[in-house]
Amino acid sequence: MFDWLLGAFSKDMGIDLGTANTLVYVKGRGIVINEPSVVAINNRTDQVVAIGEEAQKMVGKTPSYITASRPLTSGVISDFDVTEKMLRYFIEKVHSEGFTLNPRPRVVIGTPLGVTEVEKKAVEDAAINAGARKVYLIEEPMAGAIGANLPVQDPTGSCVVDVGGGTSEIAVISLGGIVSFKSLRLAGDELNQDIIQYARDKFNLLLGERTAEEIKIATGSAFKLDDPIVSRMRGRDLVSGLPKEVEVNDTQIREALSRTISNLIDNIKMTIEETPPELVADIMDKGIILVGGGALLRGFDKLISYETQMPVHVVSDPLTAVVRGCGIVLEDIDAVKDVLLPTQYEEPPK
Ligand code: ADP
Ligand code: MG
Repeated sequence: MFDWLLGAFSKDMGIDLGTANTLVYVKGRGIVINEPSVVAINNRTDQVVAIGEEAQKMVGKTPSYITASRPLTSGVISDFDVTEKMLRYFIEKVHSEGFTLNPRPRVVIGTPLGVTEVEKKAVEDAAINAGARKVYLIEEPMAGAIGANLPVQDPTGSCVVDVGGGTSEIAVISLGGIVSFKSLRLAGDELNQDIIQYARDKFNLLLGERTAEEIKIATGSAFKLDDPIVSRMRGRDLVSGLPKEVEVNDTQIREALSRTISNLIDNIKMTIEETPPELVADIMDKGIILVGGGALLRGFDKLISYETQMPVHVVSDPLTAVVRGCGIVLEDIDAVKDVLLPTQYEEPPK
């Protein structure tokens, strides 16, 4: 009864705690927060200086006593304190926007596949300490599949590939569970590093990470393009130490990205090889579904399709698929209880 009262006045939310971006969905309202997972801390006072968008602007520009970092770099909570501060900030931000009697929401959080008990507990603790009344955990590709409207609870195989910033996850789902999967620390960040490495090797050019990301988004591709793209990249000449600008085209950037891309594709093939044949037949019908920011890389779907001989579809708005899935779960938790992960607290500790 009391729990029901609390629920009526708090804003239940779904959170995609991504390595690159954190998104928050509020029941009945939709996506209300979509910001980079970055926190800037003052090392002298241990105080948070900025979170999200504002902290992102500080990356690479901070004085020595401020650190701007991504607490979830590889998909798991590498920095527990900072993650908790970030979660608390986002939960409070949602509640400060309107009058609420009790700001202790129920929260559905997406977690990477294959997280350990310790890591799961860390996410739950962070959410409880940040003010959540009840925490539900869901595997990110499961949430992505739900966000893509796949029939995850049916006895049919669905295959989801989620390429994010720090991690990529490949999962085959049937009857509400994950049948086979791979989780890799190989995703968008690694593609940026590939471009940095390429610029260094080919042009003696030192690029910043943000520039590399801009080049990837502007020029990057996985499959030969119909219309060539040329862009300019700016950095520092490693020989003279002075600023330098060079022209690059899509063929060069494709070459730069190819090692990581083929590594991802090998892992997709391996996951399919480990999947029972009946489910593979279902996937051949429905295709592989791409979610996450990496799905936006030009021609990634074409290359995967060519290499696996399966149809491949990019979900609409891949950057929000996981949080939309968390939102769908939130709207009717009882209907999807069996796809959630077991959690340690039935009720938060008093
Ligand atoms: P996470 O879930 O780990 O936070 P996201 O799903 O938010 O990650 O995806 C972020 C990644 O997607 C970043 O590495 C970013 O560079 C990449 N990304 C975003 N847009 C594009 C694009 N148009 N082309 C290629 N990569 C992109
Ligand atoms: Mg993600």
